Amino acid sequence: MTVALTGTEAEAHHLDRADPGHRELFHIPPAVGGRYPDTAYLAGNSLGLQPRATREQLLADVDAWARLGVEGHLDAERPWLPYHESLTGPAARLVGAVPAETVMMNSLTVNLHLLMVSFYRPDGRRDRIVIEDSAFPSDSYAVRSQARFHGLDPDRAVVRLDPGDVLDYLAAEGDTVALVLLGGVNYLTGELMDIPAITEAGHAAGAVVGWDLAHAVGNVPLRLHDWDVDFAAWCTYKYLNAGPGAVAGAFVHERHLGARDDLPRFEGWWSTEAGTRFEMAPVSRPPATADAWQVSNPPIFAMGPVRTSLELFDQVGMAALRERSLRLTGYLARLLATAVPDGAFTVLTPADPDRRGCQLSVQLRGCSAEDLVERLSRRHGVVADARQPDVVRLAPVPLYSTHHDCWRAVEALAAEL
Ligand SMILES: *Cc1c(COP(=O)(O)O)cnc(C)c1O
Repeated sequence: MTVALTGTEAEAHHLDRADPGHRELFHIPPAVGGRYPDTAYLAGNSLGLQPRATREQLLADVDAWARLGVEGHLDAERPWLPYHESLTGPAARLVGAVPAETVMMNSLTVNLHLLMVSFYRPDGRRDRIVIEDSAFPSDSYAVRSQARFHGLDPDRAVVRLDPGDVLDYLAAEGDTVALVLLGGVNYLTGELMDIPAITEAGHAAGAVVGWDLAHAVGNVPLRLHDWDVDFAAWCTYKYLNAGPGAVAGAFVHERHLGARDDLPRFEGWWSTEAGTRFEMAPVSRPPATADAWQVSNPPIFAMGPVRTSLELFDQVGMAALRERSLRLTGYLARLLATAVPDGAFTVLTPADPDRRGCQLSVQLRGCSAEDLVERLSRRHGVVADARQPDVVRLAPVPLYSTHHDCWRAVEALAAEL
């Protein structure tokens, strides 16, 4: 039966019945156009959808403030003082860390800066930062400003490489590299880097290796501790569905934790041991955990949605999500290869499933990405996202996307191209 149905809408429904995912746990935005009531939402790599459980948890935190005032720090059902600690365990499981290595705080680029304060230590000839040439702009600006902060010329100190050239560069010029900072999954191409191999090569060259996991966390399984990654940071509003601007995560490997006076760090009252915080002492006593990188008291109302999201990932498990992700993205790749007129686009994302997460990036020929994405939404209820001038990103998210969403996206592309 499946063979006869290949590429049809009936086949998509058939596959969804066998492999339903967890769509019922999310709000799916209604479609503005097309013949289906809901959007085919393939933009979860940009902003994840809202879990149905989020609203109630968020309101419970707001209500605690109304009821308890300042007493909520200790007496709320989820007390505010240790609130961030309740996120540490599930966050650590998601990135393959021990709990002491993980903290949820701030936003992604802020965390990259706080971590680079500690881990970008230019020293004589060894002062370069290696990033990928297609790095997300925020990362580019962050590393350039770090170079300037150290009195260096960013045009010289920041080296932009094709990801495929990083290992060769480290072998040839490694003694000039202070820091390698790459995206675990590239935001534009969807390519999944060989995180353990690059980390090992960076260390062999004597460099520190950090990872921006914005497009990797909640998308592919991670084992940061075992891979010996020095530090990492990620946001939670993409695959983690914690809402726009939600509180981000940070990882510092165990071997960098503890009282080390030689490790610079920007501190505040949340950098000191929780038990000493209210001693109001003039000198901090940082804990031997990633909590030492915190600065301020956390935004509680922004933490609730992160908590809801991390609990969901804990329940479903990243291994099961990756299995489903391989099926969904494989299905989308097969449809793209057959259904759309030859030469209308090329898929930028590696064809090997081991070298990608759920996102497929399509590079258009002779057509503006922004214009196409607008038509996909208005005429077909398909939500994708555009990266100017000519890249459209399609991300079937294993928690809530369906085979039918993929089918709708490809049908709409075939109609519009
Ligand atoms: C989404 C994304 C960011 C966004 O940074 P914020 O600090 O969360 O605004 C940064 N870097 C990468 C690689 C991203 O994908």
